[in-house]
Amino acid sequence: MTAKIIDGKEFAAGVRAKVAEHVVRLKEENGLVPGLAVVLVGEDPASQVYVKNKHRSTVEVGMNSFEHRLPADTSEADLLALIDQLNTDPTVHGILCQLPLPAHLDEELVINSIVPEKDVDGFHISNVGLLNTGQKSMVPCTPLGCLMMLRDHHGSLSGLNAVVVGRSNIVGKPMASLLLRDSCTVTIAHSRTKNIEALCRSADIIVAAVGRPEMITGDWIGEGATVIDVGINRIDHPEKEGKTKLVGDVHFDSAVKVAGAITPVPGGVGPMTIACLLASTLTACCRSNGLSEPE
Ligand code: NDP
Repeated sequence: MTAKIIDGKEFAAGVRAKVAEHVVRLKEENGLVPGLAVVLVGEDPASQVYVKNKHRSTVEVGMNSFEHRLPADTSEADLLALIDQLNTDPTVHGILCQLPLPAHLDEELVINSIVPEKDVDGFHISNVGLLNTGQKSMVPCTPLGCLMMLRDHHGSLSGLNAVVVGRSNIVGKPMASLLLRDSCTVTIAHSRTKNIEALCRSADIIVAAVGRPEMITGDWIGEGATVIDVGINRIDHPEKEGKTKLVGDVHFDSAVKVAGAITPVPGGVGPMTIACLLASTLTACCRSNGLSEPE
């Protein structure tokens, strides 16, 4: 048996196309253009690539993109002043502060200074609380993208056993909350979990968000399980000297022989994250103007 490959690129293109259609309607019917402000502090090369991609995708769906690139030695007061200004700017509906921030800046303080309604990353403490109590909130983009792919593949997730490997605030925990909200039976595994292989083998759904290249091999996976690989790890290319290669947290070649469905890396969860960011910006724009939300 070979698993169905869940094509995140194609899925994300569909989400972006729907967002773009909605943006056209908003413009025509309400004279509104959703705006996303992205704040990047410092020169982290990976962050620079992410910010560039976010800008391009935002413009492509017809939204306004406001980029704020600040030097690495920006003071906390200056960063908070910028966020304050974006919080009150009526043309900005979503604010994203690219993480990680340089070490002298308090990430929690900065994230919690964004007004929750514009917190398109869903990391503000109010949004975390709203999500965990089943209320309307902004939802973190990566787990949201994973949920969309899972719903698409399974239809209803009700009653399925899900194991989320990783308990970070940005992926593992919100992923578990979303799966629980869809009535999965959820286990969160982490670096201290005992018998993790057996636990994963018992799952209908495995979401891997660990940050360890190819840790989850085929023998961790139950026959026919759905595997969502969030990991993005750059490793030395096994065949091409001096070159690198992106791999997930799942060992794709062995997993694909056992799983029922699997997301590849690259081309799985990654493209869905940006598409969900755009969808969340649109949602924020509709909510702040009292308009019905896109589905
Ligand atoms: P973190 O480093 O914040 O969290 C990793 C989690 O994995 C921790 O909870 C840790 O456990 C757990 N862990 C580490 N080692 C093991 C192990 N040997 N066995 C079981 N659990 C382990 O990572 P993130 O959640 O931020 O990211 C996870 C991965 O997802 C990374 O590769 C990242 O690059 C990728 N990512 C991809 C995105 C996308 O758009 N596709 C977006 C965000 C992240 P403990 O808490 O006990 O230390």
